[in-house]
Amino acid sequence: MAYPFVESPNKTVARGRAIDVVVMHTMEIAERPDAAEICARWFRTPASRVSAHYCVDANGVIQCVREKDIAWHARGGNTRSIGVELAGFARQTTRDWEDAYSRAVLARAATLVADICRRKRIPVRWLLADDLIAARRGITGHVEVSKAFRRSDHWDPGPGFPIESFLDRVRKAQQAARTARPKV
Ligand SMILES: [Zn+2]
Repeated sequence: MAYPFVESPNKTVARGRAIDVVVMHTMEIAERPDAAEICARWFRTPASRVSAHYCVDANGVIQCVREKDIAWHARGGNTRSIGVELAGFARQTTRDWEDAYSRAVLARAATLVADICRRKRIPVRWLLADDLIAARRGITGHVEVSKAFRRSDHWDPGPGFPIESFLDRVRKAQQAARTARPKV
């Protein structure tokens, strides 16, 4: 899938890296139509010293770092991961994640993450800090990278993030893509 590309200079250019983990974040930017653009602009600013591969809001997805390169999104866990930023806040309750805006964000993110997992053959399961330390492959949150490697105190996407329903959406998106693919 090709998304609009707003290149971030905040990255480590890599060659032939293995990708084992997708790390979910919240941008800490309000639910507004241009949240992904605002986030991408911040990542494009050299002084910010941060980036992620993808920024997702209710309207769309913007890519900021090529998947082959290392984005600076989760200290201690960047080398083998892809970072996905979601519009919203880590302090959102499960209920907040159910409003129309968040549902649209989660739907777009699920399609994106399903595609990444399919291409990189990453299992659709949620990893905790111990799994990351054991180098297991899957999907996780920034908070687990922080707990595992103790290089950051970021706790996004927050305790209200609907892990199970998100994984379910990712699985459904993969099934839908399989059915849609023409049989030869
Ligand atoms: Zn984060």
